Amino acid sequence: MNAIRNHATGREPLHLSFVVPVFDEEETVGHFVRRVNELFDPAHYRLDMVFVNDGSRDSTLDRLLELQRQDGRIRIVDLSRNFGKEAALSAGLSAALGQVVVPIDVDLQDPPELVHEMVRKWREGHEVVLARRVDRRQDSLAKRATALIFYRLHSRIADVAIPENVGDFRLMDRRVVDALSALPESRRFMKGLFAWMGFRTAIVDYARPERVAGQTKFNGWKLWNFALEGTTSFSTAPLRVWTYIGGLVALLAIFYGLFTIARVLIQGVDVPGYASIIVSISLLGGLQLMGIGILGEYLGRTYLESKRRPVFIVRHLYEDTRGEAQQEPAMAAQ
Ligand code: UDP
Ligand code: MG
Repeated sequence: MNAIRNHATGREPLHLSFVVPVFDEEETVGHFVRRVNELFDPAHYRLDMVFVNDGSRDSTLDRLLELQRQDGRIRIVDLSRNFGKEAALSAGLSAALGQVVVPIDVDLQDPPELVHEMVRKWREGHEVVLARRVDRRQDSLAKRATALIFYRLHSRIADVAIPENVGDFRLMDRRVVDALSALPESRRFMKGLFAWMGFRTAIVDYARPERVAGQTKFNGWKLWNFALEGTTSFSTAPLRVWTYIGGLVALLAIFYGLFTIARVLIQGVDVPGYASIIVSISLLGGLQLMGIGILGEYLGRTYLESKRRPVFIVRHLYEDTRGEAQQEPAMAAQ
C-alpha cells in the first residue's frame, strides 16, 4: 500500500508498463508509439512499452527495432513463432517491470487515453481496473451476436463469471501481475484467469473505435475455438450434463421396453417398428458421439496440460543498450 500512497502524492513519476502483443502489425506499431508519446508526459509517467512479436511474418520486428533506436523505453520480446494472443500476453506480462501494467492492442482499438482514468481509479485503491466497451458498433453483427451468446452461456455454466464486454485491456497492479504469472497452467484463457483471480476491481467504460490500419487477426473459426477454450477451461458442466441426458434417455428406453413387452404379450409379435428402431439407434448414436467428443475435449486438455510445456518460447529479448540496467535475457517461460 505504501508504494501506492507515494505515487498518489504525485512526486515520483508512475512506472507504467504497456504490454502490446503484435502479429503482422507493421502498419500500426508506429501509430501506437506516436499516440502513446503524445499522451504520456515523462514528468508523470515512467513508461515501459513491452512489445511481444508473436511470430509476425511481415516487417513488424524491423519496424519495432527501428522505433527502439529512437525510444529506449521500448522493449521487444521476440517469440519463436506465432503462439496466439493469449500466450503473447503471458510473455509480455512476465517481462513487464512497471508498478502498474496495462495489456493493450496495438491497433488503437483500446484507446490509450483511457489509461489516465484507469490510473485515477488505481490511485483510489483498486488493484484491477477493467475497461468495458459500451458499444460494439465497430464489430460485425455476427461477432456481436456470438459474443453475447458466449457471455450468457459462460456465466450460466462456469464457476467464475467473466464480466461482459470486457477484453484484455485493463490496468493491473504489480501484485496482480505477479499472481497471474504464478498460475501454473499452461493453457491460458486470459479473460477467465483474470476473472478467477479476483482482487479489488473497478470498471471504466469506453466506446471501441475502429482499427487505425491493417486487418483483424481473428476470424470466425478462431473465435469459435477461443469460446470452446474459455468454456472448457472454466467449467465442467458440459462434462456433467451427459450423466443427466444419458440417465433420462435410459429411463425412457426402459419404459419403452416395458411397453413393447406388454404389447407383445397382449397383441402378439408386431412386424412394423422398423422406423422407431432406426430413430432410436441413430438418436442414441448421435448422443453418444457428442458425449465422447466432449470427453475428448477435456481429455485432450488434460493431456496437453500434463506435458507441462512452456506457454511460449522467447527467441530474443531486445532491450535498449544505452539506458538503464539490463534485464536478464533468460526469461522464465512459465
Ligand atoms: N494478436 C497477436 N497474436 C495473434 C493474433 C492477434 O498478438 O495470433 C494481437 C494483434 O496484433 C493485436 C491484438 O492481438 O495487437 C488484437 O488483435 P485484432 O485487432 O486482430 O483483434 P480484434 O480487435 O479484431 O478482436
Ligand atoms: Mg483490433
